[in-house]
Amino acid sequence: NGDAGSYDCIFCKIAKKEVPANIIYEDENVMAFLDIAPLTKGHTLIIPKYHYYNLASMPPLVISHLGSVLPRIARAVCEAVDAPDFNMMQNNGIRTSQVVFHLHFHIMPHHPTDAKKF
Ligand code: 5GP
Ligand code: ZN
Repeated sequence: NGDAGSYDCIFCKIAKKEVPANIIYEDENVMAFLDIAPLTKGHTLIIPKYHYYNLASMPPLVISHLGSVLPRIARAVCEAVDAPDFNMMQNNGIRTSQVVFHLHFHIMPHHPTDAKKF
C-alpha cells in the first residue's frame, strides 16, 4: 500500500531533526514546516511527530490535538505571507496524490493575484 513505515521516512527524520526543514511551529506532538516544493508562497505541511500512514490510522487523541492547533498555524502562515485565504489539502493513499506516507496536512495560502485553483 505504499507505506514504508517510519524506517527511512523523510517526515520522521524532519520530526527528529535529522533532516533540516524550515520549522514554523513545534510542540511535543506536532510540527509544521515549509514544503520543499511550494505550490504557493508559504505552502506549509503539518504533521504528527509520530509516524502514522494516513488520516484513517490516526488515534483520536492525536488527531484532536493536531486539529486543535491547525487553525492557529493556518492563521500564522497566512499572516506571514499576507494572504487572506488558503486551501487545505490532505491526501490518503497511493491512489491519491499522496507521495509521503506520513500523515500531513497541506496549508496553501492563496494570494490575491493567484488564479483560482485546487
Ligand atoms: P503528498 O503528495 O504526499 O500529499 O505531499 C508530500 C509533500 O511533501 C509534497 O508537497 C513535497 O513537496 C513535500 N516534501 C517531500 N519531501 C520533502 C522534504 O524533504 N522536505 C520538505 N520540507 N517537504 C518535502
Ligand atoms: Zn514518518
